[in-house]
Amino acid sequence: MKHDRILPPEAALDQARFERLERQLGRERKARQVAEAIAENGLRELYESKRFLALLQRITDRANKADGLTEALSFALSEICAEMGWDFGNAYLVRSMQEAIACDCWHVANPEHLMPFVEASRHGTFRRGHGLPGRVISEPHAHWVDDVRAEGNFSRREEAIACRVVAGCAFPIMAGSEVVAVYEFYARKTIEASAVVVETIAQIGIQLGRVAEREQAREALLRDALHYPLTTLPNRVLLHERASSAFARIPEDGKGIAVLVIDLDGFKAVNDKLGHHAGDCLLVATAARLRDAIDECVGGESVWRPSPRTAGTVGDRALRTRATLARTGGDEFVVLLENVTDEQLPQTIADALQAELSLPFSVGRDEVAIGASIGIALSNAEYSDYDEIQRDADLAMYEAKAGGRGKTITFTHSLGTAVRDRMALERDLRDAIREDQFVLHFQAILDLAAGTVEGYEALVRWNHPQRGLIPPGDFIPTAEATGLIIFIGDWVLREACRAISRLHVTLANGNAPDANMPWVAVNIAPQQFLQPDFIPYLRGVIMETGIPAQCLKLEVTEGVAVLDAERTRQVLEECRDIGIRVGLDDFGTGYSSLSYLHSLPFDTIKIDRAFVAALNQPKSRKIVRTILDLAGNLDLTVVAEGIETADQQAALTTMGCGMGQGFLLSMPLEELAAFALLAEGSPYARGRAARRRQGVKAAKPRLQSHPA
Ligand code: C2E
Ligand code: MG
Ligand code: MG
Repeated sequence: MKHDRILPPEAALDQARFERLERQLGRERKARQVAEAIAENGLRELYESKRFLALLQRITDRANKADGLTEALSFALSEICAEMGWDFGNAYLVRSMQEAIACDCWHVANPEHLMPFVEASRHGTFRRGHGLPGRVISEPHAHWVDDVRAEGNFSRREEAIACRVVAGCAFPIMAGSEVVAVYEFYARKTIEASAVVVETIAQIGIQLGRVAEREQAREALLRDALHYPLTTLPNRVLLHERASSAFARIPEDGKGIAVLVIDLDGFKAVNDKLGHHAGDCLLVATAARLRDAIDECVGGESVWRPSPRTAGTVGDRALRTRATLARTGGDEFVVLLENVTDEQLPQTIADALQAELSLPFSVGRDEVAIGASIGIALSNAEYSDYDEIQRDADLAMYEAKAGGRGKTITFTHSLGTAVRDRMALERDLRDAIREDQFVLHFQAILDLAAGTVEGYEALVRWNHPQRGLIPPGDFIPTAEATGLIIFIGDWVLREACRAISRLHVTLANGNAPDANMPWVAVNIAPQQFLQPDFIPYLRGVIMETGIPAQCLKLEVTEGVAVLDAERTRQVLEECRDIGIRVGLDDFGTGYSSLSYLHSLPFDTIKIDRAFVAALNQPKSRKIVRTILDLAGNLDLTVVAEGIETADQQAALTTMGCGMGQGFLLSMPLEELAAFALLAEGSPYARGRAARRRQGVKAAKPRLQSHPA
């Protein structure tokens, strides 16, 4: 305040003090105003940070309880929008740090104002660097668009302007160093990039990132539980899950699903020879080849990829063939085909797989050849669940395997019956072995000229508790196919040797049995003959039963030589060294390679009964004569099998065949009856003796009475 008047000195003094006080007051007021402003700001910041803290707390609580990232995200979007006063929040999942794909997880405050912009955003995909979400992937921190109209890298500008959106911001959600999701916000006003806002949303991002990490860990666990780590193919559990849901969708006629069961041939040998690491490499390479071949046939990736080529339609909805390749065991794979409309497709795929697997594999420095046995089954209305289809594909695969390497068989009803019968037979055979249900019959083998019994062939029968006596032809093939022949053959060999030993004891009458006594011939299956310890095993049986080695003959078929000629020669030589004789059975029926006779040291050949039965035909006669000539040259004993008539016997004797066996001479009989022939002579020998009356050639030792 200004005064014009001249004041007395005291008054002037007061005035000066007054003005000073007034200035002081003014300064104080100003300071108070500043202090008040500071206090108000602090309070506001305090208030804001409290609100943001509460927001962070709410989102963290929810994130901890959420089932997955999208659930936590959608809660976060609505809470952030509400707290910040923003109009729209939207989230993207990021694939391999390359692409942000909207995951239909969004929040909008006033839909009526913003829908065009929401629509443009909720289905959007942004490549790394493109648009606001893409920028967050390439530089993982907060990004802002202050004015959508002025932003160059913003593809939704038109919709944003139409909805009067002004500004936006976007933030990364990280799992470790990887951006796994992006969330963005837009408002119809300026968005202030204050430090506290940025810090709060960054903290929320960290909490959501933890949910993403948790989800990733759970997915990895699930993947490990549902996939084989080695081949990364779906495992049995995942296959079953997919197959069952596919089965639930098949139409009324039950068609549409096909299953291929693939079992590698020769994989075990690679594992055994080259080690497990080589085996693992081979499996990985096999899985890759199978996958490629299936992709080629089905037209896409083999897992869950549809094929346009094999597509069919139901109504106006296209059904496309889908293939799943799974590994279900050590060297077993399964292909599940869904929506199959072309019934040839499974066979086409099987052919392609066979072709792929027939090519050699390089494993380390080795080249290995494997193959596969494939069983196919197609669904039909009779199946009540997926397991039944796979079981039939399994059956077909076993059938293919039994037929040799590289075979494919499609399941049919009659195949199922045959295989099930065989499986039942196999089960019964196991019981038979355990419960000793086998018996031996002996068929005499005679010196044709002298009519004397020289030895016996031991022939096994199965005394089935329900079905009675079953001939060997009805179960030996199954026993051979399943390997059970080893057990049956062992029982036969020991039992035959024990029986002949009992005979020898009776014949020797207190003396030691000698090599001229009757012998027993035992049929030996190829698996037995080619066993690595076959010779020591034979020695053991001979020692145990005490028979002279010369009184044991083995009968094998050409199958042994076909399987392994060198091993056969070795075993034959070792048998010869011990004194055991070996005969070639059923000569003339198999490969009948004459070279076997030259190169393999057999002692006897048995002319198959088919030639004997046809002896009245000149061609058969010629063959028999040739065999006899050849055997004479090679110094082999010949036994003619299946002599049923006196004419056959006469013809054979005339041609110079030394020995014979057949119903005319004696049926296969139980032990006592068979051995009694030594004392009584066979019916044939008795008749012959009666005819000759005198002058019969001195016979082998004969029993005085029935063996005990
Ligand atoms: P195989 O070794 O050729 O045995 C001769 C078969 O011919 C026997 O049939 C015998 O009963 C039959 N047979 C003998 N004489 C005549 C005849 O005059 N006419 C006719 N039609 N048949 C005659 P079985 O006992 O049914 O044996 C069949 C085959 O089963 C045997 O043929 C042999 O290959 C196999 N087998 C028998 N026992 C065993 C065994 O213990 N082990 C093995 N691995 N195979 C065996
Ligand atoms: Mg035989
Ligand atoms: Mg035979």
